[in-house]
Amino acid sequence: MCSEDARRAVPRTDVVLADPRLQAAQRTLGRSFVLELVRQAQERSRSGEISPESIVDAAVAALPATVSSMRKVVNATGILVHTNLGRAPLSRAAVDALVAAAGTTDVELDLATGQRGVRGRGAVDALAAAVPDVGGVHVVNNCAAALALIATALAQGRDILISRGELVEIGDGFRIPELLASTGARLVEVGTTNRTRLSDYEAALGPETALILKVHPSNFAVRGFSEEASIADLATLGPPVVVDIGSGLLSPHPVLVDEPDALSTLRAGASLVAASGDKLLGGPQCGLLLGDAELVERLRRHPLARALRVDKLTLAALEATVRGPHPPVRAMLEAKLADLQARAEKVVTALADVTEAEAEVVASEAAVGGGGAPEVVLPSVAVAVPLRFVEPLRAGDPPVVTRTERGRCLLDLRTVEPDDDEALVKAVRRVGKD
Ligand SMILES: *Cc1c(COP(=O)(O)O)cnc(C)c1O
Repeated sequence: MCSEDARRAVPRTDVVLADPRLQAAQRTLGRSFVLELVRQAQERSRSGEISPESIVDAAVAALPATVSSMRKVVNATGILVHTNLGRAPLSRAAVDALVAAAGTTDVELDLATGQRGVRGRGAVDALAAAVPDVGGVHVVNNCAAALALIATALAQGRDILISRGELVEIGDGFRIPELLASTGARLVEVGTTNRTRLSDYEAALGPETALILKVHPSNFAVRGFSEEASIADLATLGPPVVVDIGSGLLSPHPVLVDEPDALSTLRAGASLVAASGDKLLGGPQCGLLLGDAELVERLRRHPLARALRVDKLTLAALEATVRGPHPPVRAMLEAKLADLQARAEKVVTALADVTEAEAEVVASEAAVGGGGAPEVVLPSVAVAVPLRFVEPLRAGDPPVVTRTERGRCLLDLRTVEPDDDEALVKAVRRVGKD
């Protein structure tokens, strides 16, 4: 059929939309969304790319599973907490909790009395139980928000003492000193890049000192001729000591010996701890504020707190993360090498007939990533395939994001959830067969 005829034969939009599959899609994806896909298919027919008879099939083929464009991705990078991949994947318990909270929920209502309740009390109580002796708990949007609230509420127009070794850039060009200064607090830098002593803080102390801030160097390490003042010593100086621990470990973890945790930091004498919820805690994006009851209450009641308030979904997922079974990040951290090896061998066996893939089990090194434990190397196991697999795997469904190393494409199993091993095999198989 010539294209002139093709244009004439393009069926009307309402006729196309009446197809039962597109009717069903309109209920789940919305009419305008489906309409746009139909228009695109009609356009392809007009240009002669497809026949008028295939318009419905083409529109159906283009239907996504959900209206949101954000997709599930398999993280085979070996970076446990990958900021570009949404940091911590949530536990099943956390997913269930946020689905339950998605509708109308009692986030801020006491069902027993019918009165307004503390917003997200369950999450706050769970954190308090996980960090014994903590005076107060508050949750904001992320760790950066926690720092902004602290600086605004406790140090606006006053001084924050901070070591020159702790002026950290957290990523994407965002720097903690600039964030603090943007609140109207004055930063007073003390010590040097590699050595800051208690006496440096002491010398800078004055009537304008609102607080002493320690920031964990979570994405770099200073080694060699270095020294820092301990929290216990800083706590003797008078002003509140606030510690940004970054990664959100609530208590010490044996694999991460140098990573600070909230419990130990508070026990050492810190007045307040700020941390992220979606790094090593393994929960949703949020910022945890833990510490002195009176200080936390001041933060909670500050006008800015309202602008940093977390969503009910976050609160539900956070509570489930803290109370429920260990989240995936924890499982990845603690996965045994022998188990990773067995999974890798199984994947390679399942790919034995895909000769193109040349799949092979190789030793690998995984990392925490995402601003945590910068020096920790996690021995791991990967499946290696040729470099040309990188892009098609990333473009696949589900997309698999890999790591390029030694001229090969590595699929590191430490960051792949075991339930996704089969998806991994299928993805490689599809690319290998192309
Ligand atoms: C990651 C990190 C931050 C920023 O945390 P967000 O939750 O992403 O805002 C701040 N401080 C430290 C030390 C960090 O590691």
